[in-house]
Amino acid sequence: MRPVKASPQTQLRLLELADLDAELARLDHRRRGLPEVAELTRLEARAGELKDDLVVTETELSDLAREQGRAERDVDQVRTRIERDRARLDAGQVSAARELASLQAEIESLRRRQGDLEEVVLELMEHREELVSRRDELMAERDGLGSEMAAVAARRDAAIKEIDEQAGQASDRRGSVAAEVPSDLLALYEQIRDSRGVGAAALRAGRCEGCHLTLNTVDLNQIRASAPDEVLRCEECRRILVRTPESGL
Ligand SMILES: [Zn+2]
Repeated sequence: MRPVKASPQTQLRLLELADLDAELARLDHRRRGLPEVAELTRLEARAGELKDDLVVTETELSDLAREQGRAERDVDQVRTRIERDRARLDAGQVSAARELASLQAEIESLRRRQGDLEEVVLELMEHREELVSRRDELMAERDGLGSEMAAVAARRDAAIKEIDEQAGQASDRRGSVAAEVPSDLLALYEQIRDSRGVGAAALRAGRCEGCHLTLNTVDLNQIRASAPDEVLRCEECRRILVRTPESGL
């Protein structure tokens, strides 16, 4: 393969390209790491939990309403039987002493049963009150969460819009810089960038700015002896090593 050659001016363009690529990578990293994204994920998880808790509470409430209805009907039935027995007593329909005693015993027993059932109804009503206030708390938290999520989403969208604008500008600048780099040099740059993340680095004060390796005297002498249009590579990181006025040569 014919070695790539480019004027020192053209080689300097690669450093601009590397700066713009670094900026684009930084913006991409920022976009993916926005705290609002993590915050929204957390809030969405909580909203999911709330939704499930609400379904459970609503189900418990409707089960309880059915149970309460049943208990109230039982109370009514017992009350009706007591009234019927009392009516029989009051009407003087029962005169035999044994039958009278048995009826009175039944009324006593029915009253105890009524008392027990009324207690059950009361307990169910208390439980219902607890569930209603729990449901109200859940609904209030859900509503609050909804507004919070909307606010975080708005902040995230604004941040993404700003990042996209900056990325758009950097991308435009990259396009015009890349247009000034000959295709063989650009292809080499892209190939290195694909494998190493950064395609070119400056030689500054005898040091590769890509891997921060300080070149030894032999290497520096070799660079000094190279033609200005020769495209050099860092021996350590293999990036294109661009000579600048600050290279210390
Ligand atoms: Zn290097």
